[in-house]
Amino acid sequence: MVCCMCSRSVQILSRQLKVSQLRVFHIIAMDTVPPAASGVRSASSFLFDKAFVDGQWVGAKSGSVYQITNPSTGKVIGSVPDMNGDDTQQAIEKANLAFLKWRDTTAKERSLILRKWFDLTIQNKLELAKLLTAENGKPLKEAIGEIGYASGFIEWYAEEARRVYGDVIPSTAASKRMLVLKQPIGVAGMITPWNFPSAMITRKACAAIAAGCAVVLKPAEDTPFSALAMCQLAKEAGLPDGVLNVVTSSRDNAPAVGNLLCTSPVIKKISFTGSTVTGKILLQQSASTVKKVSLELGGNAPFIVFNSADIEAAVQGTMVSKFRCSGQTCVCANRILVQEGVYDQYVARLAEVMNQELKVGDGFDDSTTQGPLINSKAVDKVESIVEDAKRLGARLGCGGKRSDKGVNFFEPTLLSNVTLEMRCAQEEIFGPVAAVIKFKTEEEAVAIANSSSSGLAGYFYSQNLSQIWRVAEKLEVGLCGVNDGLISAIEAPFGGVKESGLGREGSKYGIDDYLEIKYVCLGGI
Ligand code: NAP
Repeated sequence: MVCCMCSRSVQILSRQLKVSQLRVFHIIAMDTVPPAASGVRSASSFLFDKAFVDGQWVGAKSGSVYQITNPSTGKVIGSVPDMNGDDTQQAIEKANLAFLKWRDTTAKERSLILRKWFDLTIQNKLELAKLLTAENGKPLKEAIGEIGYASGFIEWYAEEARRVYGDVIPSTAASKRMLVLKQPIGVAGMITPWNFPSAMITRKACAAIAAGCAVVLKPAEDTPFSALAMCQLAKEAGLPDGVLNVVTSSRDNAPAVGNLLCTSPVIKKISFTGSTVTGKILLQQSASTVKKVSLELGGNAPFIVFNSADIEAAVQGTMVSKFRCSGQTCVCANRILVQEGVYDQYVARLAEVMNQELKVGDGFDDSTTQGPLINSKAVDKVESIVEDAKRLGARLGCGGKRSDKGVNFFEPTLLSNVTLEMRCAQEEIFGPVAAVIKFKTEEEAVAIANSSSSGLAGYFYSQNLSQIWRVAEKLEVGLCGVNDGLISAIEAPFGGVKESGLGREGSKYGIDDYLEIKYVCLGGI
């Protein structure tokens, strides 16, 4: 499955220029929205043009940098170092030195630092959100929501740090005591995507840091600034140098950075969020050192509406599940399956609500609900998926083409009469396209839902209690929304089955991925 075919929205600029020569930033849009209160820092004060290694702001050894553009306006926001394997190696060594001290801190010490980091993030929520909107394009309201979600993981792991319990096992011999210790796994390598530039950082890094691990993290090429801003706040909160390191790299250098993280014997754990294609590469590379690997990969969520459903609730659930981040989330409704008895009613109402509620525009415009896609290649992909559906007989309810708002915008689109051979019914669309398929029976809907190699989120709407139990149990997914389209929560385990990934993040389970279990047998008693 091809999960995301985004292209470079950044251009690799004059690689030989010194970083200092490029320290010219135009955050016009970000700073035209006034700060939340006097004394609060501006969004551009969180814009760092260096990577963060061993508590220091550093450039690439080569001096190379690359530019990041606002996907809405195409304007350059700034530049960051284009780091390679050499730079990553240095970050790994620094992280390892930091780990040797950090693992010996008490859970309470780690908890207090994370708590302070959380407080600082909340204090600067709006400014961090503006930075996020500038580099990702999502509407400011959604960006504020993401910063709330991201900081929630910092708070959660501040609390979970103190709840890592071992065990005492009833011994089989009177002279022995059998104990289980949980210890930090070591330095963790992390690679994150552009669609949640803050939350994907904290969901991983804070679990690791709470457990006593150190981190080397590579954010997506398109959205490094949110990750770097988080480093600044972590430093202010008192996180020791080297515990959190962020290595920035262009898409050209990403494979080298990723390969080093996966093959380095110093790195003991890889955590990745992104496409299934990339996840498989990293899993293979990690085999060489038998690393523990967590993968949060692509989805292809079924969204089933049964005859018994509350149609108004199902339409509202579709809106929130399908159109958040302009359809660019891994848990977006992808294959909307509607039973024949309510099909026409659902399609008509969805078209009405889409026309009423969705407004395409710049993320800093208050009325915008649909920002740009991340880059022009993403728009090309969505356009070709819609063209394929139209060619094979899908009916267009609204949208269907590029928006006149700018090169990276696509109109919210409704396709009905969708059939299973169409690309929109097979691939992760990753754009604002609702593709509605008609089905007859529950068995047919479940079979279609489970026919995908992905198994991240799945949703269904029904008011029949027996059906709710049956379908919830049968859907092959890691996350299941019943009469609800927005189900992610800090307290709940997030992760997929089948080719959607390995492991769980968030919740009481998330920290386990950064812990080793050690059995200690105490003899001679
Ligand atoms: P992607 O192309 O796989 O990129 C994700 C990250 O991997 C980026 O940092 C990227 O760097 C890096 N990368 C790409 N190729 C690499 C390689 N060969 N070696 C090492 N690193 C490499 O995915 P994306 O387009 O950013 O994100 C969209 C996908 O992520 C969708 O499929 C979505 O469903 C999935 N996703 C899943 C979850 C989840 O929790 N399950 C959450 C969010 C997104 P560059 O940016 O430099 O290319």
